[in-house]
Amino acid sequence: MDSVVIAVDGPAAAGKTTTCLALSEIFGLQYIESGRTYRILAFEALRRGISPEDRPSVISLCDELIEQSRARSQFAVGGYAPQDLRSAPVNVTVSTVARIAELRVRVTELVRTWAAACAKCVVEGRDIGTVVFPAASIKFYLTATPEVRAGRRIAQEGGGAYEDVLRDVLRRDRADMSREVSPLVPAEDAVMIDTTELPLAQVVDRMVSVCESRGVTIP
Ligand code: C5P
Repeated sequence: MDSVVIAVDGPAAAGKTTTCLALSEIFGLQYIESGRTYRILAFEALRRGISPEDRPSVISLCDELIEQSRARSQFAVGGYAPQDLRSAPVNVTVSTVARIAELRVRVTELVRTWAAACAKCVVEGRDIGTVVFPAASIKFYLTATPEVRAGRRIAQEGGGAYEDVLRDVLRRDRADMSREVSPLVPAEDAVMIDTTELPLAQVVDRMVSVCESRGVTIP
C-alpha cells in the first residue's frame, strides 16, 4: 500500500493512545494525536484569560497558533508539558472549545496537512473516521465502560480520586457525543472493539490482524 491512513476514534481513555502508539511502532506509521491540538487551544485560552465561550477570540487564538506553527508538524511553538495539557481545567475547557465549528474546520485542515506530509499514519481522535478522513483505509472505534476507562486513566496518569475521574469521563462523553458539529459516533465502516474486558495488548493484536488482512505490511 502506497498510502495508509488508519483512523482510531472513541471516547476518553478507551485505549486509543496506547494502541495507536503500538500500531505506529509495529507498522512504521507516523502517529498523529488530534486531541492534543484541541488541548493546546484550551490551555492557551485559559492561560490568556480568554473565555472558551468567546468564539471569535478563540478562533483568532487558533489562527495565531496556526501562523506560528507553519511548516511544522506540530501545532504551536513551544513545548507543552503533558501534565499541563491534561490538567482538570483543560479537561473541562477542551469540550467547550471543541464545539466551535470554525475551529474544527481549522484543526481538520491541519490534521489533513500533517497526514499528507507522511505517506503512512495512524490518527487518533473523535471524528477521524467520520469527518477528517471518511475514506481512511482502516477505521477503528474503541470503547469500554466508563468505570473501566476511569480506572485506566488513574492507572496511567496517576492522581485524581476515582469519583472525580469518572465524573470527568462521563461529562466528556456527554459533551463529545451530543455536540452539533462532528459528534463522537462510530463511522459506519469502523471495526468496533469493546476493550472493557480485553487487556490492551490483546486489543493491539486484534488491530494488527485487521491491518494485515487489509494489506498493511510490517516493514
Ligand atoms: O483525545 P483527547 O482526550 O486528548 O481529546 C481531548 C478532547 O478534545 C476531547 O474530549 C474532545 O472534546 C476533543 N477532540 C475532538 N475531536 C478530536 C479529538 C479531540 O473534539 N478529533
